[in-house]
Formats: sequence, structure tokens, C-alpha cells
Amino acid sequence: CRLFIAGRHSQERLVQYLSVIETLNQEDRRLVHHNLANWWFTNPTTVNAFYSASTNQIRFPAGELQKPFFWGTEYPRSLSYGAIGVIVGHEFTHGFDNNGRKYDKNGNLDPWWSMDSEEKFKEKTKCMINQYSNYYWKKAGLNVKGKRTLGENIADNGGLRQAFRVCTAMFAVILQIKL
Ligand SMILES: [Zn+2]
Repeated sequence: CRLFIAGRHSQERLVQYLSVIETLNQEDRRLVHHNLANWWFTNPTTVNAFYSASTNQIRFPAGELQKPFFWGTEYPRSLSYGAIGVIVGHEFTHGFDNNGRKYDKNGNLDPWWSMDSEEKFKEKTKCMINQYSNYYWKKAGLNVKGKRTLGENIADNGGLRQAFRVCTAMFAVILQIKL
């Protein structure tokens, strides 16, 4: 809830804004005066991760930074790359999925891609929509609705790919080999 009062407004409109502010509860008032980029929305014990398009942030509460997602240094690194690495990549990719791509680096809903990039992106997403729409879950007797799950499917694919690339690059450094 970010409230912008900028530009030219009629006195009547300003009175309406003030009326809205008056009806906001205490929590909402704190949000109005707070910089959302510094606001921590989640409980530290939450076992989940998040991407926020309106603040262009990824968030990993402490609850997520433990096994079976983050394995620490006493286990092979590959476990963490395959778990929290994929999750980090997933959240990053949300910034460029079918919804996140519409927001600029400051979290404003302001399309910044060229028409050509948009067209190519939409063309490529058709392939992913078809792929996922063909997945059938026998127990439910339903197919995945590939159009509806597109954002998550893009994020899953992007996350897995990024984690694998980082993992491969890291092992190449450790083993001192050229890729
Ligand atoms: Zn997601």
C-alpha cells in the first residue's frame, strides 16, 4: 500500500485522499510513511521464499535457510546448490516472468522491454504453456493449466538452470578445469 499524492489535484480530490488516510488502520499508516523497500513483510520462522515485483526484492526468511534447503558447510555443496540454489534462482527468475517483466528496476509497473523482446518472449512462452498443459494428474483427472501456472513454471525452469550453471562453474574453479 504505497500512497502517492503528486501532481495537480483538485481540492475535492485532496479531501478524498485525506479521508482515506484517516480510515487506514494503524498498520496501514505505518506502511504509508515507511519505505517499502526496507519493509520486512514476512515472519522469520516462515518456511518459504518470496519475490516482490513492486519492490524488486527477493526474500528468504530464516525458516527457509535450514535443512532440507540450506545444508551448511558440513555437507557437500551440491546439496545446497540443488535446494536453496534452485529456490534463489526461482525467485530471481520471477523478476523476468510473464508478470515480473512488466515492472522496472524500481518496482514501478512500467513496461521497459522492446516490442521485439516482448514478441519473442510471448512466442517462447507458448512452448512452455503447451509443455505444462500436457501434464496430466491421474488422481485429479485433470491436466495442468499451463497458462495459469506459467509464472511458476518459468521460475522453476530458470531457477534450476541458474543453480546448475553456478554449481558447474564453482566445481570448475575447485577442480581448476576450464569449461
Ligand atoms: Zn514462485
